[in-house]
Amino acid sequence: MNIKDRKLDTKLIHAGEPNPRVQGSVAMPVFLSSTFEYSGDGTAGYDAVRYARLSNTPNHVALHEKLAALENAEAALVTGSGMAAISAALLGVLRAGDRLIAQRCLYGGTHGLVTRDLAELGIGVDFVDASDPSTFAAALRPTTRAFYVETLTNPLLELADLPAVAAFCRASKLVSIIDNTFASPVNFRPIEHGFDLVVHSCTKYLNGHSDLVAGAVLGKAELVAAATRKQNHFGGCLNPDTCALLHRGMKTMALRVRAQNQSAFALAHALVAHHAVAGVNYPGLESHPAHARARTLLDGFGGMLSFELAGGLDAAERFLAALTIPIVAPSLGGVETLVIRPATSSHVGMGEAERKKLGIAEGLVRVSVGIEATSDLIEDFEQALDRAS
Ligand SMILES: *Cc1c(COP(=O)(O)O)cnc(C)c1O
Repeated sequence: MNIKDRKLDTKLIHAGEPNPRVQGSVAMPVFLSSTFEYSGDGTAGYDAVRYARLSNTPNHVALHEKLAALENAEAALVTGSGMAAISAALLGVLRAGDRLIAQRCLYGGTHGLVTRDLAELGIGVDFVDASDPSTFAAALRPTTRAFYVETLTNPLLELADLPAVAAFCRASKLVSIIDNTFASPVNFRPIEHGFDLVVHSCTKYLNGHSDLVAGAVLGKAELVAAATRKQNHFGGCLNPDTCALLHRGMKTMALRVRAQNQSAFALAHALVAHHAVAGVNYPGLESHPAHARARTLLDGFGGMLSFELAGGLDAAERFLAALTIPIVAPSLGGVETLVIRPATSSHVGMGEAERKKLGIAEGLVRVSVGIEATSDLIEDFEQALDRAS
């Protein structure tokens, strides 16, 4: 059977590995060479040039095959960060004079990129509520080229009507682009639901160990090729040694993410039951506005959740100070549980009024659940809530 037809767990281990193995090496060797001996006859142009910035060393090629296999994509590109993936993907599709439709609540870096940097290049953006397909047509203009969404939004874990976004793009000849970082390929594979292009911050679940920054673009071959041309010139490539670290981290992703799904599910329910908690945002809860959609679209509800304390901002600060296991830090998707107040981190740039409009309370706490024992985590959250209330 072709590796592409195997289950995700098997692909994580075996897809993209060199065949035959290099010197019999079971682990993918690291090729710490910026450049490679010329192998062409002078007629092959750039295709015969192998150079680390062109993302075509053996470590890049192995990762591209593994990443593409995970989401059944035609092709993949690994990038120097999640933002390098997002900028290469968008600049591969959009030209001066074009417009982008985007989901209203975006990752902070992406929001800045599309509202400020793309604007400087003459590319406009129209924001929509991606949960309400009846509003999409009003945002469509003759110059609209693409539609950009995220699988689960930060920090409220909203899940838009993703099949409707993909269908609208097909009908309107737009390129559909989705940031699948929060779900990971374990819980959602957007190409199976009609998306053209997927971006990831591999810094998060794909690597899973909080020890590198990387990104990826996956999808239709011609769109990945366009992103690659942008990255080759803008220069946001990933070094081969970091490729090798990411390659190693990815192998345990299915185990990690399924453990995180289970732990977050249990923690979300424990939080709901605690008197000091005013509300919990987690797609696995029946109270979540898109719970029914999450049940049909996702293979797991994920390791991210957020919640508000009844005592507001002061209680949230006391809670964070009383925790003993989680680390108060931004970022997510690693083996260690991280907690943060979005108002002081990911959403500090937008100001209190704008946060309020989006429903992000000053005391909201976001949690990236790690792989510590679930019972230890729940016990620690409960003692910290008791002390904060
Ligand atoms: C972290 C993150 C990014 C940016 O990724 P970097 O690797 O930090 O550049 C983009 N989108 C989402 C949803 C993220 O969580």
